[in-house]
Amino acid sequence: MPADKFTLLQQRFGYKTFRPGQETLIDAILNGRDALGIMPTGAGKSLCYQIPALAQDGLSLVISPLISLMKDQVDALVQAGAPAACLNASLDAATCHQVMDQVADGFCNLLYITPERLENPGFLHFIQSIPVALVTVDEAHCVSQWGQDFRPSYLAVAPFVAGLPKRPCVAAFTATATEQVRQDILRLLALDHPKVLVTGFDRPNLNFEVRHPGKKLPLLLSLVNKRRDQSGIVYCSTRKQVGKVAEALCADGISAAPYHAGLPDSVRKKNQEDFIYDRIDVIVATNAFGMGIDKSNVSFVIHYNMPGDLESYYQEAGRAGRDGEPADCILLYSGQDVRTQQFFIDRSHTEMTDTDPGALREKDQERLKAMTFYCHTNECLRYYMLRYFGEDSPKSCGHCSNCNGEKEHVDLTVAAQKILSCIVRTGSRYGITMIIAILRGSKNKRLLAQGFDTLSTYGIMADTSAKRLRQIIHNLENQGYLAVDDGTYPILRPLAKSRDVLFGKATVTADLLIEHKPEKVKTSHPASGSGPSGTVNPTLYDELRALRATLADKQGVPAYVIFSNAALTDMCRKLPVDSDAFLDVSGVGKVKLNRYGKAFIAVIQKWVKTEKPSSADLNPTN
Ligand code: ADP
Ligand code: MG
Ligand code: ZN
Repeated sequence: MPADKFTLLQQRFGYKTFRPGQETLIDAILNGRDALGIMPTGAGKSLCYQIPALAQDGLSLVISPLISLMKDQVDALVQAGAPAACLNASLDAATCHQVMDQVADGFCNLLYITPERLENPGFLHFIQSIPVALVTVDEAHCVSQWGQDFRPSYLAVAPFVAGLPKRPCVAAFTATATEQVRQDILRLLALDHPKVLVTGFDRPNLNFEVRHPGKKLPLLLSLVNKRRDQSGIVYCSTRKQVGKVAEALCADGISAAPYHAGLPDSVRKKNQEDFIYDRIDVIVATNAFGMGIDKSNVSFVIHYNMPGDLESYYQEAGRAGRDGEPADCILLYSGQDVRTQQFFIDRSHTEMTDTDPGALREKDQERLKAMTFYCHTNECLRYYMLRYFGEDSPKSCGHCSNCNGEKEHVDLTVAAQKILSCIVRTGSRYGITMIIAILRGSKNKRLLAQGFDTLSTYGIMADTSAKRLRQIIHNLENQGYLAVDDGTYPILRPLAKSRDVLFGKATVTADLLIEHKPEKVKTSHPASGSGPSGTVNPTLYDELRALRATLADKQGVPAYVIFSNAALTDMCRKLPVDSDAFLDVSGVGKVKLNRYGKAFIAVIQKWVKTEKPSSADLNPTN
């Protein structure tokens, strides 16, 4: 008789309570109902199908898009003493047969496969004789053409399920929230009256930040140096940038490696593994990196370039802080990023042979616009993003760069009049750079050649910085006074709403960030004792981390599969010195206690004896 859901949660996984949504979905599946769980990254979707799989008889199949992803999950399950295995193209025939024998004999009832396996005749024949209780589709957005990760073989899932002797329960999970993708999942996976559960998309432990640096590289080096010994991802939009940035980081003494589709397979694979196994701290990558990276201890994601849409941004940034620890998501913006993304859109739509390329292009264009606004908005960044994903949230989160930045309420009426009339006087034919150049009285050759130095608006805002002007223009755009027409060249154009402003019949106000002098970029290294910021007893954290690395190395598994950073932090907080206290640590179940309790308790005991624990942990509320 398999165990019930609470016993599994506590003894197998070492957690005390379910997170929002988990229990509802688990109950639905255990009652034989199809389910669709839409929950943000790090919310704990895996448990929603792993617990039913372990709580009932029959085989549970998990369809997962990437080998590295399923490998991690299976490693973690095996660590917790659960009977899981996987079948994929990286295994030889003998190993595959061994796994299938285990499944047939009932020793493994949680089997991970890639969708391609569903088209393999040998597997299809084999599975006919196995009672399948549950088919789970992880990363289910891969079934939709509208998402960025479309995988044609995901379309094989529905026919596969229909072809089984007895229809199993089908459960699908994704972090992609858009209505279109949701509809596609329901339809293309042929879910039968599923329990649909959408939890909030907020990731409260992530700190969002947008920077507009004059020079990106020095800022990046300073940001990464401040986070020495922490795991991080730096995303760039081109392979060339990846190479350049990775080199610069290494030259500065940071252990970093590049990752992009242009590297030889073996190098790419090695770099990815070095990162997952904590042999290097930072991976510099294009967006080819990440899907299927379940590394839970990533504590920062820096975008060296702005991505093309907020879906990608939220997904990539969301790879930070999966373990629930505070993590930073920082975007370094420049105007060039918008042009690069525009170029990608243009290119992809000339190459595409879609049925309705116009509609898709328009969609891409809209997405790019929303992404660009994110970089210029003065609103709370979290509020802006959640609203984009269709979710209500407080207007201020208190821990993004806009909430933390000082703002002032300013009257922009005169500035708006000057800007709008400059646009009108030049025939609404120029982009933001030229308009700013005219307003600030630049001696730019192209400007002089056009005779713009004779305009009445030439130089009338010479005392306003270009950065501030950009901020104001984007604010006017956000408020609907002007538009940036996308074509091959982004052109500013006044909208109807601006008439009253130009004729002095309306005022314009805004909350703008107070301008500060650009911060001095320091490259000093942090004080000793790493661990996520705010860890109590950081020196103990370092010792536990070292022990974890040794154990992981011995077994050839990633460190976070043994204990997550969150579990280490909890140990530093609770300082458990016996088995009972150790079981109380979040993420410690019975199997892990038996396997690792002794070693970790020994380190903690020794540390408690020789070091004085910080007073924070003597306070029970901490
Ligand atoms: P998702 O697939 O939704 O991105 P995961 O299933 O990978 O998220 O879970 C993210 C992290 O949260 C993992 O480290 C997992 O062990 C942890 N987790 C899941 N459920 C709970 C819970 N009920 N309590 C504490 N931690 C949990
Ligand atoms: Mg997942
Ligand atoms: Zn905020």
